[in-house]
Amino acid sequence: VNMFMNPIRRLVNFNEQLQRGMSGFSRFQELLEVDPEIKDDPEAQVLKDVQGLIKYEAVSFSYDNQEKVLTNVNIEIEPGNTVAFVGPSGAGKSTLTKLLPRFYEIDSGRLSIDQIDIQAVTLKSLRSNIGIVQQDVFLFNGTVKENIAYGTTNPSDEEIIAAAKKANAHHFILNLSEGYETDIGERGVKLSGGQKQRVSIARSFLKNPPILILDEATSSLDNRSERIIQQSLEKLAAGRTTLVIAHRLSTVVNADQIIVLTEKGIVEKGTHSQLIKSGGEYSKLYDEQFSNTLTVE
Ligand code: ATP
Repeated sequence: VNMFMNPIRRLVNFNEQLQRGMSGFSRFQELLEVDPEIKDDPEAQVLKDVQGLIKYEAVSFSYDNQEKVLTNVNIEIEPGNTVAFVGPSGAGKSTLTKLLPRFYEIDSGRLSIDQIDIQAVTLKSLRSNIGIVQQDVFLFNGTVKENIAYGTTNPSDEEIIAAAKKANAHHFILNLSEGYETDIGERGVKLSGGQKQRVSIARSFLKNPPILILDEATSSLDNRSERIIQQSLEKLAAGRTTLVIAHRLSTVVNADQIIVLTEKGIVEKGTHSQLIKSGGEYSKLYDEQFSNTLTVE
């Protein structure tokens, strides 16, 4: 394989295999609609004017009340910063991110946004402040326009088009038989993987949340599509507090904070240069995965 034709851009082979077998992330959207067990506190406040400071304090979580997936996790993310989660499959990266919109309730500890406990605010207001972009995009039966508008109340056509442009989706949408009115989803036209992702990125631009959860897993996109998507994701993350389950070397290297999660929990936190310097787990993984692949980025 010609290494210049096929530059290895994903940090994380060790993040990579895992996604193929469908992680729980694909259930995000369905859960957005109904999760009967998690309810608003009767006194719940509306979360608003979010700056985007996120804190996990001594957070523990298990799916079954027995085996802890996360034990005593402490993370602090400054407003507007990007944190990249790396580590082997099953370490709990996506679980961690799913606790923030309260798709699951923590067993103990505290999870807060701008110092406000997420259990003290309404689910609706909490989730309206969090955008989720994932690999297995959920598109429903409806027009492109409706799919972009999902999650936003009464957006104008201009706003929808502006969001699609930011997501590098406008041109391919115009080339569909009926443009923004084209039916997509299960019974509509088949979009390519990259096109679906761009629709979902447009959705997030339109929603414009202060907090973003990004599952960067990349599947079968060609290099060019991947680059286009990467560019729009970078634009999307700018100025938002972003939690990325990272698969690209560039994302990890540029993150404000890298969190290395293994079965033992969080084993390292820091920037790329800090973690390389300290010579721990991250630097080992980095050496193994990338020492001979640092070519074109
Ligand atoms: P991957 O990238 O493979 O998804 P990950 O680091 O994101 O790995 P999680 O998906 O968060 O890890 O999974 C952490 C652990 O929790 C794994 O042991 C997994 O089997 C388990 N798990 C994940 N989702 C559920 C669920 N809905 N119910 C029960 N156990 C789950």
